[in-house]
Amino acid sequence: MEKKQNENEETLSSLLGGIINGGIQVIDLTMTLDQRTPTIVLPPEHGQSWPFRLEVISKYDERGPATYWNNMSCGEHTGTHFDAPIHWISGKDLPNNATDTLPPDLFIAHASVIDVSLETKEDPDYLLTIERIEEWEKINGNIPVRSWVLMRTDWSKKTNPTEYLNHGDEGANTPGPHPDLIPWLIEERDVVGFGSETVGTDAGQAAHFSHPFPCHHLMHGAGRCGLPALINLDLLPAQGAVVVAAPLKIRQGSGSPVRALALVGK
Ligand code: MN
Repeated sequence: MEKKQNENEETLSSLLGGIINGGIQVIDLTMTLDQRTPTIVLPPEHGQSWPFRLEVISKYDERGPATYWNNMSCGEHTGTHFDAPIHWISGKDLPNNATDTLPPDLFIAHASVIDVSLETKEDPDYLLTIERIEEWEKINGNIPVRSWVLMRTDWSKKTNPTEYLNHGDEGANTPGPHPDLIPWLIEERDVVGFGSETVGTDAGQAAHFSHPFPCHHLMHGAGRCGLPALINLDLLPAQGAVVVAAPLKIRQGSGSPVRALALVGK
């Protein structure tokens, strides 16, 4: 007797069919990890994140004639990476707040891409506001529930690490979300989290805000996540892409480098 495919099986098979026949494009949102990958620099009294480092174990040589492989080391928050709620003190007591305990379905979500690349070209300290998103929603419809809000700045096109980190006398000058935007995204739009093209999800000047590091403090305090140092956001539609980004399953990990992918219907 022929087994009738149920609706969900058909959905999956049509998704895979789309990927195989090219109707659904897979876009890589991930920076390449190497010794030049920019690492966040904290005030000297704080602990520091290791830069990415690779050391050859063997390369078809006397150390292993048939094998090539490396040891690697880096901080959890290196390159394109995932911020889990446990990363911030505000999220430390939440249930399922770490890389090994977050529900895995969170790793697949909508993408709402807010293009503020023109604004950030003029002003590296540009802050994304509620008003700017409401303007975007008039054209693209509301940010759907369970979406990543991805701030497109084209910042990732800066290939020089010094320009990318853009440190000034008062800390980094890089764009990010306005403090008022974060509670609105959580309460009014129920987002999965916030993603950016810069080294962290908060603006470079966020240490000086009246509520410091709002994207970390408030997002993680509400069990939401972060996805910084993305690339290729300029290849995504404003609305309709699906992001797949899963952190390594580190026990009680605060985050990890990810291979972030977007599925885009042509
Ligand atoms: Mn981080």
